[in-house]
Amino acid sequence: MLDCRQVLSELSNYIDDGMTLEEKCAFEEHLARCRRCWVVCDTTRKTIEIVSENMPPAMPLAVSERLHARLRLLYASRGS
Ligand SMILES: [Zn+2]
Repeated sequence: MLDCRQVLSELSNYIDDGMTLEEKCAFEEHLARCRRCWVVCDTTRKTIEIVSENMPPAMPLAVSERLHARLRLLYASRGS
């Protein structure tokens, strides 16, 4: 049986889905019984969701290609 300390130290593992089914079951069993850990888990998960939603999208490929072309020109002209 997991205790609160173990649950909190495994929290990121749980959220990242890096657990075996067995570990996950034990984890969720604890959350079902322990309000404090449940709140911590829920808050952490929501925070991560908000952060990842607000992350800027990766630079589109076309833009980065143009950027690289620009940089190559810049370096080429500097050399002459
Ligand atoms: Zn607990």
